[in-house]
Amino acid sequence: MSAALSASLYDRVRRVVPPMEWAVFAPDVEAILRLKRERNAVILAHNYMTPEIFHCVADIVGDSLHLAREAQRVRADVIVMAGVHFMAETAKMLNPGSRVLIPDLEAGCSLASSITAADVRLLRERYPGVPVVTYVNTSAAVKAESDICCTSGNARRVIESLRTPQVIMLPDQYLAANVARETGVKIISWAGSCEVHERFTPAQIRTLRAGNPGVVVLAHPECPPEVVAESDFAGSTAAMADYVTDRQPGRVVLITECSMADNIAVLHPRVEFVRPCNLCPHMKRITLPKLRATLETLTHEVTIDPAVADRARLAVERMLAI
Ligand code: SF4
Repeated sequence: MSAALSASLYDRVRRVVPPMEWAVFAPDVEAILRLKRERNAVILAHNYMTPEIFHCVADIVGDSLHLAREAQRVRADVIVMAGVHFMAETAKMLNPGSRVLIPDLEAGCSLASSITAADVRLLRERYPGVPVVTYVNTSAAVKAESDICCTSGNARRVIESLRTPQVIMLPDQYLAANVARETGVKIISWAGSCEVHERFTPAQIRTLRAGNPGVVVLAHPECPPEVVAESDFAGSTAAMADYVTDRQPGRVVLITECSMADNIAVLHPRVEFVRPCNLCPHMKRITLPKLRATLETLTHEVTIDPAVADRARLAVERMLAI
């Protein structure tokens, strides 16, 4: 990589990546940029990717809703998902003509693994006629058993669009409880949770406020409702990013995965980010060396049984149409 290109890429992340780390990252960044051209590949990266992935090699970044929308539009031979497995499945479902790769097949999600297609069928038997709204953080097989999908950014809108007095909302008990506080629709939930967001506590927020006067607290709706109640704002990672961009708080804390604050902080030098956070072990399986290996070897390909994919796609497309 030319010194000028390396310097301009490093400029994007210098506030959160020390020079010694950049020296380690630069060869992989250079190789990934070259391989993307050779393979006609596009990298989609979730907001929880580390800054050198998010700012230096990704083509499209965002929350799961944005990545799903963009996956549908991408025209490339190869889509690499810098995110977790359900996101790669969603990309494959919405763009079946592209080869979809994930750098680590073990990059899962505690929400996605909390429920199976058989569980959804049992719930349908128990609550006949009640529509099933499924969070995108689920396997394609679970989506295939659902009426419609939702994300943390559109859950309330999706539920109210069904115009029914009650819905089954799967699998995040906390997202369901947080949405239930905002809507008159009765919500039957499931006992799944995000292992990252469920660890935050109200006491932690109070301690943060005491130690950081004036701090604005933004929480992800996968946090327990008591945590959301202690916060100033709750929203998806995209909504948090918009909040910081639009309101430029003097001091802010994002109650979510660690890389989120790093990725936004580089764009807002005048905002002070207080950084208690929890790492997602699944997201952190995706690294620059693994991204490089994925593009070199064209592994690991994500495939879905076409019959499952067709039904799951319907649930996702119904959401995207709202
Ligand atoms: S942060 Fe939580 S919801 Fe997101 S991938 Fe990790 S475990 Fe799943």
